[in-house]
Amino acid sequence: MPSQAIDNARIIAKALGIQGATSNTLSYQLSIQRSVETEGVGLHTAVRSRIRLVPAPPDTGIVFRRVDLDNFEIEAHGRNVARVSYATSLMKNGVLLSTTEHLLAALYSCGIDNVYVEINALELPILDGSAQPFMDLLDRAGIRQLRRRRRYLKVVKPLEISEGGRRIGIYPADEFRVRCYIDFPHPMIGQQETEIVVTRETFSRELAPARTFTFTEDIDRLRAMGLIRGGSLENAIVLTPDGLLEGSLRFPNEFSRHKALDLIGDLALIGLPLQALVVAHKAGHALHTRLVSKLLAEPSHWIETTETVPAESSARTVRETSPVHAD
Ligand SMILES: [Zn+2]
Repeated sequence: MPSQAIDNARIIAKALGIQGATSNTLSYQLSIQRSVETEGVGLHTAVRSRIRLVPAPPDTGIVFRRVDLDNFEIEAHGRNVARVSYATSLMKNGVLLSTTEHLLAALYSCGIDNVYVEINALELPILDGSAQPFMDLLDRAGIRQLRRRRRYLKVVKPLEISEGGRRIGIYPADEFRVRCYIDFPHPMIGQQETEIVVTRETFSRELAPARTFTFTEDIDRLRAMGLIRGGSLENAIVLTPDGLLEGSLRFPNEFSRHKALDLIGDLALIGLPLQALVVAHKAGHALHTRLVSKLLAEPSHWIETTETVPAESSARTVRETSPVHAD
């Protein structure tokens, strides 16, 4: 672990007066300490973009600013969800912002409640296809605790959506936990499941390095749809019919881990930290964001609370992610 990350973990633990602090035990809102930036190409547009994370005051939320469009602001919130297929896009007054999920997964898992994300193009950089470069960026940014209580969205009644063989549900739980099941008829994938209690530490260790993936047989079709123009072996795992086109995996079940990462990034659009279990079964961005919209539209299923979870109940949480089965 880089020393900056250890420092950040210590800052959080110190702020709480306990060791092993998790994002669900935070009483006060967080922002970042200082502005940081990075740049790279967009996965779908291949357009080079630069992003800059800037500290923001309490109750701002995560707000994107298109600096190429007069600082037009788009809040990372379910009401701004637009066209969603192979990436999650936000749209407000016709202004689009694409592929938000990996950065949002990093911010949400780290408990960063308030930050401006300045960007000079319509798509976030894909970098290495995982959330690791964004975690490194957040390590450089540091954490600032703000003098405003953190409000959680606590689910009190289950909500489920299904569509063919795919489904997603959200259930009452003290901590923020996700479970993701996938099943791809491919010798490297098969059935995989990842379950994790989401904290800065677990996300950083278990999910952030997991990269997005694509199949060689889909590449021509996706390109014809105007997608993955910036895709390359530097930013995605590419699967041939019987193996990997190049390189090796970072985890045997890197695929379900990446799906869990994507899910967390989409859940960030709830706009508040979650106290809930989310179970996704062969779901994708479209179902994730439908769940977010449906939850926000059903206020009888949740309450807002400043109550935090006792640290001891968050400590027993991590179940090792492992392949359920792979042929
Ligand atoms: Zn992804």
